[in-house]
Amino acid sequence: MPMPESYRAIVVREDEAGMFEGLRTAEKDPRKSLHLTEVPVPELYPGEAVVAVMASAINYNSVWSSIFEPLPTFGFLSRYAQQRPEGRRHELPYHVIGSDLAGVVLRVGPGVNAWKPGDEVVAHCLSVELENADGHGDTMLDPQQRVWGFETNFGGLADVALVKANQLMPKPKHLTWEEAASLALVNSTVYRQLVSRNGAGMKQGDNVLIWGATGGLGSFATQYALAGGATPICVVSSPEKADLCRRMGVEAVIDRTAEGYRFWADADRQDPAEWKRFGQKIRQLTDGEDADIVFEHPGRETFGASVYAARKGGTIVTCASTSGYRHEYDNRYLWMSLKRIIGTHFANYREAWEANRLVCKGKIHPTLSRSYPLEETGQAAYDVHRNLHLGKVGVLALAPREGLGVRNEELRDRHLDAINRWR
Ligand code: NAP
Repeated sequence: MPMPESYRAIVVREDEAGMFEGLRTAEKDPRKSLHLTEVPVPELYPGEAVVAVMASAINYNSVWSSIFEPLPTFGFLSRYAQQRPEGRRHELPYHVIGSDLAGVVLRVGPGVNAWKPGDEVVAHCLSVELENADGHGDTMLDPQQRVWGFETNFGGLADVALVKANQLMPKPKHLTWEEAASLALVNSTVYRQLVSRNGAGMKQGDNVLIWGATGGLGSFATQYALAGGATPICVVSSPEKADLCRRMGVEAVIDRTAEGYRFWADADRQDPAEWKRFGQKIRQLTDGEDADIVFEHPGRETFGASVYAARKGGTIVTCASTSGYRHEYDNRYLWMSLKRIIGTHFANYREAWEANRLVCKGKIHPTLSRSYPLEETGQAAYDVHRNLHLGKVGVLALAPREGLGVRNEELRDRHLDAINRWR
């Protein structure tokens, strides 16, 4: 296949990084800051691959990039340029964002032997250098660990993407391009956060409290809990989402809107009576038990309740702070009850590979609810920013329509109900 000289890409622009100044987070509109534009194909370096992107997906990091919060991502690109000669390619006045893809390898650089042009792949988003000993036990600990398409340029919301070859994994053969593209970031993150010994190390019988159980991360946490013999306690914000959890096989579901929890009495003060009411609700649903693991990501708004609701000796495992990163909790409930808080972030290649392997075997399924064409990426990101979506939102790049790319119809047929549940 010939290499194009330029390609269509979704970018944020450095000269617009101040465009939302003075607005509240909810008022910042990705439809105004995400632009479809033609950009040159970057030079290919050793250990890298250029991929023709059939489909990509919206992750919350693309929402953060599009609203320039907590900081514009251009700072990451200039740091990359300062740290490494090959990083200089990434420092541009535009940032091609996106941290997921499914597609076909177009070219590989010198030193790449595991992949070749024509391979159908997905890419996880961990970019590492591994020149320092620190990263060799767990590659997430590499001092130069970056999230591709967020802390690097040339991401997946485009017709072409530049990745390191050790980001590549086989595309699950029973999935469409857009289904396959919707998985790697959230699936790998949840695998590490919940299952891996680097995270909570979930075991059979654990009660797992899952915030946002039908969202990007939560829809996978729920599946891992069910598949691993644990008991998910799913928190959602509408009867429709509660119903979706039940259709997945979940028995313990909390509709936080219907219950009307107000963990914060005002902007500065939490209400422990509300934590207790929440804890009682969990016990009602579990024959009097508490959560062994709390799967945290909403952050400031829920963290006090999460620390309270974990059982004695339990674990709160957190990978994010969507509602604010300055958390407050009552430390007496942590130390007196011997709980622990674990910080976790994406996944190493091994963990991402394990998570992808479970998808390939039909044990974990995509949760894609809707796909948009590349031109409408702004709307797709808006949906996720405003919490209007279910599961994952896909974006079609070179794939001309949905439904293409399935290579194993028999495996697909076996899991069609689970895959279609989210549509
Ligand atoms: P998502 O698809 O928007 O799902 C998050 C869900 O959380 C929402 O659907 C919502 O569900 C719930 N939620 C949101 N705000 C809440 C609040 N204030 N209180 C309680 N529940 C709330 O997003 P996602 O893809 O799951 O990502 C979630 C966060 O994790 C983002 O901040 C993202 O940047 C971060 N993340 C981090 C990593 C990492 O490697 N560190 C990886 C992936 C994502 P209901 O309305 O139904 O309750």
